[in-house]
Amino acid sequence: SLDVRDLDMAYGELQVLKQIRLKVEPGTVTCIIGPSGSGKSTLLRCLNRLVEPKAGDVLLDGESILAMRPERLRRRVGMVFQHFNLFPNHTALENVMLALTRIKGMAKSQARRQAEARLAEVGLAARKDYRPSRLSGGQQQRVAIARALAMDPEVILFDEVTSALDPELVKGVLNLMADLGRRGMTMIVVTHEMAFARKVADQVAFMDEGRIVEVGPPADIFDRPKSPRLKQFLAEVL
Ligand code: ATP
Ligand code: MG
Repeated sequence: SLDVRDLDMAYGELQVLKQIRLKVEPGTVTCIIGPSGSGKSTLLRCLNRLVEPKAGDVLLDGESILAMRPERLRRRVGMVFQHFNLFPNHTALENVMLALTRIKGMAKSQARRQAEARLAEVGLAARKDYRPSRLSGGQQQRVAIARALAMDPEVILFDEVTSALDPELVKGVLNLMADLGRRGMTMIVVTHEMAFARKVADQVAFMDEGRIVEVGPPADIFDRPKSPRLKQFLAEVL
């Protein structure tokens, strides 16, 4: 499980996360919604220490992530970004393999087998030898997801992974993520896709101005919002 405890984070003078508390149980999907600039990406970035919090703690299975080496943490907590961050001069297969050989120190032959299996899982077996520039945005995002899965992380963080995609490619990637959720992957998903959050999330957290204003099951958040800010946000996006 992941237990975020009173997390504070600032960029210089700008307080971006204020007393964030959130519990994520194994095998559940947590969606984070909220207006632009509310701190959603910063929260994810704290969870695998791309940025360091100012105060508070995050426990991963009871162990403080602040006491872990970042490399070890990032093997346990995977992340998929809006812009896929693939190596352009390597094929899909090599992109997944490199994570295994470089980060996990796996032998090449074993890495190849695992990478092929992961690419097949995301529906890309036939494209494994293509470079990113010859794949669609949706296919590139699948490679990035396969790469994250290959690390066998305990949790995967997704930061608006469909917002750079052409509309016709969004659905396929969302379906893949819903599938991962059904198969028991623990996921934290920052998204603007409210239909996805409603359908797939076990819990939805609404952030505004650096705080989690409301958290609960999707039916409560979307059908019975309590705070005026959430009501206003939903009126704008739904
Ligand atoms: P969006 O929906 O637009 O992605 P967000 O909820 O992910 O927004 P963050 O990216 O976490 O928001 O940003 C939260 C606040 O921190 C914003 O006010 C932003 O301007 C500020 N911020 C983000 N990154 C930096 C940075 N590297 N340096 C300084 N300020 C930053
Ligand atoms: Mg963001």
